[in-house]
Amino acid sequence: MAMPARPVNLRTFRKKVADQKRRMRAFLTRTENKPPAGLDAMVRDIDREVWTAIDCLSCSNCCRKMTPTFTEADVRRIARHLKMSPQTFRERWLKLDRNGDWMNRSQPCQFLDTKTNMCGIYDVRPRDCAGFPHLTRRKMTDYMVWHRQNLEYCPATFRMVEKLMERTADLKRSSQ
Ligand code: SF4
Ligand code: SF4
Repeated sequence: MAMPARPVNLRTFRKKVADQKRRMRAFLTRTENKPPAGLDAMVRDIDREVWTAIDCLSCSNCCRKMTPTFTEADVRRIARHLKMSPQTFRERWLKLDRNGDWMNRSQPCQFLDTKTNMCGIYDVRPRDCAGFPHLTRRKMTDYMVWHRQNLEYCPATFRMVEKLMERTADLKRSSQ
């Protein structure tokens, strides 16, 4: 039975991350090197379960602690929405990282309302934000490097990895 979405408790989350991140990252590396049969279908299934139980509006940790990548199309769309030129938009809020990608200059994101956790440019937000945390965007093994990073910031990613660990342990037990 699906659980109702519960508010995210970031203090509890940070404690769980501190206790478990090394073990979870090691699990992801083993899974990347030797993926179980049906891994992507399993993750798609888990993805649905995760989002019935997690309420992003009670969290916004990604908007507070991380930065999206802004594509040229994102910059043009958001600048138009804000009635400014793409150049002014970049100068005001963005910086280039060492890979040549446009990122926010500071955290939390300038568009986050930190009282309500609402995004001030929700309808035109970067595609990276719209898809985050990309649990099923690609083959799991192609995105493992990002899941390893994101589990430290995103309760949904953390929960996905927890559930994957439970399921693969069940698979092992049933094949013994
Ligand atoms: S643009 Fe909106 S969704 Fe993206 S990081 Fe900023 S506040 Fe969050
Ligand atoms: S995507 Fe992850 S970090 Fe962002 S608000 Fe949702 S649960 Fe929190």
